[in-house]
Amino acid sequence: MLTKRLRNLTPYVAGEQPLDKKYIKLNTNENPYPPSPAVKELLGRYDADHLRLYPDPLFTRLRKTIAARFSVKPEQVFAGNGSDEILSFAFFAFFDSADGPLLFPEFTYSFYPVYCDFYGIEYGRIPLAEDFSIDSESYPGPGKSCGIVFPNPNAPTGMFLPLVKIRELLERYPGDRVVVIDEAYIDFGGESAVPLINQYGNLLIVQTCSKSYSLAGLRLGYALGNEELIKALFAVKDSFNSYTVDTLAQKIAEAAIADEDYYGKVNQMVVRTREYFTGELQKIGFDVLPSMANFVLARKKGIEGRTIYSRLKEEGILVRHFDKPGLKDFVRITIGLPGDMEILLQKLREKVVP
Ligand SMILES: *Cc1c(COP(=O)(O)O)cnc(C)c1O
Repeated sequence: MLTKRLRNLTPYVAGEQPLDKKYIKLNTNENPYPPSPAVKELLGRYDADHLRLYPDPLFTRLRKTIAARFSVKPEQVFAGNGSDEILSFAFFAFFDSADGPLLFPEFTYSFYPVYCDFYGIEYGRIPLAEDFSIDSESYPGPGKSCGIVFPNPNAPTGMFLPLVKIRELLERYPGDRVVVIDEAYIDFGGESAVPLINQYGNLLIVQTCSKSYSLAGLRLGYALGNEELIKALFAVKDSFNSYTVDTLAQKIAEAAIADEDYYGKVNQMVVRTREYFTGELQKIGFDVLPSMANFVLARKKGIEGRTIYSRLKEEGILVRHFDKPGLKDFVRITIGLPGDMEILLQKLREKVVP
């Protein structure tokens, strides 16, 4: 009954969203602050009659808003049902392992190998440097490759690769092979590579409203790049589902992306909490990777990530652990409200690492 194609897939496992009780949820990198007041105001006065019609398949107004925010042309902007969808379209449109494997870091967003299997793209994992940073010098490495994809900051390390390194990589990489930079966490202290898209026609930047815009439930991502790359993404979308972004999602994202002041403040609070929390973790003997994201990856000698995870879950706090060799020692902790981070620190001191 099932195709071989399907039987050969190993789906991505999303972070837990348990419904059994109320947890302090620090496992899926959601923003602890509410969306912009402009979003609530919009929802309050929204006329449901608009939903009678199909959405605008070109996301015209939303693309204008995003283009204005980044000082690019609307033709350089694409939108999707979450950035995961855009990544999947990009894999379909740009990566063909007849030209060599797709390259990405050894430890990175675990959806990339899933899309590769889905579309039959071979891939190569490039080891991280000893300090867990992306070793940009080792890209593209010997032999051919059909493209490169990595998050910046990387997940789950949180470590940021400076733009000079990205520029160097783009300079030595063939201009007819696409480089995708997944900037899901760029608004927590990193510097976006969007200004480079005018110079490098093979660079696609993907961002999302899920983390820094407090809208994970909305499902809205967007991509910026050369007009040809954007046209290709539209071609994939229109061969699959013309209406990936619903009318309400387009409206809400527009309102959110226009409110730079609010999100600047909110994300600054997340950054301050991250810095404080990192210091406190270090005081109780944790080794914490330097993060530019809204989470930290941390480990403590003598205790596995899985153990920390289960002890915290018993205490009503969810974090993420990894069963992969090389990441077993770590837990990934989302930065939440200051009060929740205090509760977590207290539980860690009392129950986990006494
Ligand atoms: C969260 C995340 C995404 C997916 O974001 P959505 O827009 O919610 O689909 C993409 N890439 C990375 C690295 C992420 O952590």
